[in-house]
This record gives sequence, C-alpha cells and structure tokens, in this order.
Amino acid sequence: MKLLENKVALVTGASRGIGEAIAVKFAEHGANLAFTYLSSEERAKALEERLAGMGVKAKGYKSDAGDFKAAEQLAADVVKEFGTIDICVNNAGISKDNLLLRLTPEQWDDVMQANLKSVFNLTKQVMRPMMKARSGSIINLSSIVGVKGNAGQSAYAASKAGIIGFTKSIAQEIGSRNIRCNVIAPGFIETDMTHYLKDGGAEKWFEKIPLGRFGKPEEVADTALFLACDMSKYMTGQVLSICGGMST
Ligand code: NAP
Repeated sequence: MKLLENKVALVTGASRGIGEAIAVKFAEHGANLAFTYLSSEERAKALEERLAGMGVKAKGYKSDAGDFKAAEQLAADVVKEFGTIDICVNNAGISKDNLLLRLTPEQWDDVMQANLKSVFNLTKQVMRPMMKARSGSIINLSSIVGVKGNAGQSAYAASKAGIIGFTKSIAQEIGSRNIRCNVIAPGFIETDMTHYLKDGGAEKWFEKIPLGRFGKPEEVADTALFLACDMSKYMTGQVLSICGGMST
C-alpha cells in the first residue's frame, strides 16, 4: 500500500544521509519530491534521476537553508512547479563540535543558522500553501543531543533543543488549520556526519546504545514516513526518538 500517493514533499538537505533516505522512502510511497542541497551538485543530480526513475516527479534545488530570502524563493519555486507543498521535512543540518572553551562565536553562529534559523525560514514559507489546503505535515530533524546534551556539542545541542521548542509552539499555533508539526530525534545514525565517531572503534559507542549498534538512515526514513502520512493524523507537537534506546 502506498501511503503518500500524489502528495508533494519538500525535503531539505537530501543530497546525502538521512535526507536522501527520506526522499527515496517518500518516492517509494508515491510522493512527488522537491529537495534541496548546498554543494553536492552531482549527488543531487543522481538523486533527481533515481527518483524520476521511480515514477514520481522530482527536482533538486540548490538552496542555502540558513538564508531567509532563499527559503522564500524556494517555496515559491516549488509551489510554481509542483502546485502545492503537503509535507515539509526540515532535515538540512551541520555539526561543528568543540568544547565551549574553544568554541568560537563564528562556529556558534554557523550552527544556529544552518540548524535552527533554517527551520524558522522554511516553516514560515510552507505554512501558506498548507493553510490554503487546510492540511499539512511539517517534520523537523532534531537530535537526542537536543534532549540530553553532549559534551563538546553545546552549539549543536542548543540548536536541536531550539527546534523542539519551536515545533511545540508551531503545533499549537497551526493545529486548528489541520497542519501538524512534529520532531524526529535520532541517536547515532550511520552518515557522513557521524563517520568520525568510528575512528578508534565504534564499539565504545555501542555500549551506550541498548540496541548495540548505530541506526541506519532508512530507519529514520520509516519514522518520517509515519509522521508524513495519515497514520499519524492525530499527532502533533511530539518528539519521536529513534535512537536504539539511548534516551531511556
Ligand atoms: P549529512 O550526511 O552530513 O548530510 C547533510 C545534508 O544537509 C546534506 O545533504 C547537505 O548538503 C545538507 N546541508 C547542510 N547544510 C545545508 C544548508 N545550509 N543548506 C542546505 N542544505 C544543507 O547529515 P545527516 O547525518 O544525514 O543529518 C541530517 C539531519 O539529521 C541533520 O539535521 C542532523 O543534525 C540530524 N541528525 C543526524 C544524526 C546522525 O547521527 N547522523 C543524529 C541526530 C540528528 P550538501 O551535500 O550539498 O552539503
């Protein structure tokens, strides 16, 4: 059974990792896909072709998620090309890890801009077509680090905790319009972002994870599919952890 037939989904940061897995999962379920990337031109082209080969409409947009004007332009372009936006996944993000003693103001600003301001930027834009349709699902990628904190990740943790407060507020603002807004909080997922953790052995990390392994991007994509489709139609303002039990 296809769960997103003829829906239009916009996924930010889909040239790699979790965003790419979400785009593919949504396409498998019949959604037409608009997605963004920052610099991975070739990977974005390859994804566009892969999605089109799955029988859905697909287009990649080079768009800096941290730039408000770019988000405004992106939403307008997507509505023009696809007609509307039913689902928005704010996935684009970066990490710049440093102990607070060494963390620079520039690193703090970069992380806040890419991870938190980006969610404000695009949520503000996709609300309009969703309000017109009186329906929509917004899914924001936070992190277990935004819930628990982590030494060396104060900027990243603050940006991801901010996403949770933002999402819960927006859910209360736009629930009456039948627009839902939820958070996914992954633990350690196997992508470029966590590649460095494997230096010196992944086993030491596995000890902290009840399920004893890192998660896969496809497993996060399953959660995103649930939040995007009608199976979660009475859920809003919630944080779903997909972390192998790390948050328990
Ligand atoms: P990733 O493999 O590093 O991929 C990041 C993606 O975001 C890429 O497609 C990148 O585009 C894009 N991107 C980065 N900055 C951008 C910007 N300013 N504008 C537009 N696109 C931008 O990351 P990931 O591991 O898949 O993580 C995806 C999301 O899940 C992030 O928000 C991350 O914080 C969150 N998360 C990840 C983990 C984990 O363990 N991996 C855990 C918890 C939460 P380019 O390819 O063009 O650079």
